[in-house]
Amino acid sequence: MTKQGRVFSGARPTGRQHLGNYLGAIKNYVALQDEYDCVYCIVDLHALTTMETTEDLRANTYEMALDWLAAGIRPEESIVFIQSHVPQVTELHMLLSMVTPLGKLTDLPTFKDKVRQQPHNVNYGLVGYPVLMTADIALYKAGVVPVGLDQAPHLEFARETVRSFNYHFNTHVLIEPQMKVTEFPKVLGIDGQQKMSKSLNNHIELAATPAETQKLVMTMVTDPQRIRRTDPGNPDVCNVFSMHKVFSSLDEVEMVNIECRRAGIGCVDCKKLFARNLNTSLEPFRERRATIAQDPQMVWGVLDDGAHRARIIAEETMQEVRKAVGLPMWSVRP
Ligand code: SF4
Repeated sequence: MTKQGRVFSGARPTGRQHLGNYLGAIKNYVALQDEYDCVYCIVDLHALTTMETTEDLRANTYEMALDWLAAGIRPEESIVFIQSHVPQVTELHMLLSMVTPLGKLTDLPTFKDKVRQQPHNVNYGLVGYPVLMTADIALYKAGVVPVGLDQAPHLEFARETVRSFNYHFNTHVLIEPQMKVTEFPKVLGIDGQQKMSKSLNNHIELAATPAETQKLVMTMVTDPQRIRRTDPGNPDVCNVFSMHKVFSSLDEVEMVNIECRRAGIGCVDCKKLFARNLNTSLEPFRERRATIAQDPQMVWGVLDDGAHRARIIAEETMQEVRKAVGLPMWSVRP
């Protein structure tokens, strides 16, 4: 099937993925492969900007790649690789930084947020974070970048930076990426309050065992007004119901919707039903994950192969970029 162009997306190596990662990104990554040539990058360099220590970086990269593959990312079609394995990205980052006003970077709300979050570590990499992100996208000449609405300003920054580069050097070598605004659902954690996140410890890992998953589901916060079993509930404010809508059948969703409101079903039974459906949905993923995990070298091999393919595209782009910038050309001498 003819693909519509190239998609790029990157994600920081956060280790084992959770339901929020799956519904918010991975599921979409898998689906996009049918329509686009996809380049999926584990952005370890970006991760360094906020890291206290790098001791888990390799393990987190491996676990994340393992989950991506188990979820259905097809490395024979898509390029899956580690950002730092393509050194051209740092070169393009440097060249793009020359056309990026410093004030524009320090004014970005995301930079200000980071300064608030880690005042002890306002490093240079943090300031240049969006430039590195632009380099990632531009290096692979990705025409399309899937973003949630909240990430749209980042992509707008990338588009402006590409335009600025092309204008400054009177070239069309870099492609202005288009946004593919995707409805990324905001997945709440088991606390029912905040976005599901590892750092908040309110997450359910995709690779958790069925028993672990059920145990976590049973702790999920439900409609806070429903205190006794006989109290009617309101599924519209309940995170368990939101999850039913994703993982349960239409009949079950309808049943919960009706029975919760008239106290016909209790929260314990409702959660048990959700846990069962969730475990059933995750069964194929877990089986694939267990198989792939028997061969860690295969996972590293996929990442190596992806980096090799990515470097070919990256070097082609950089040869055009160096020429456009007017850098003296160099040759490799024996
Ligand atoms: S019955 Fe289900 S939907 Fe209703 S409040 Fe309890 S857990 Fe939520």
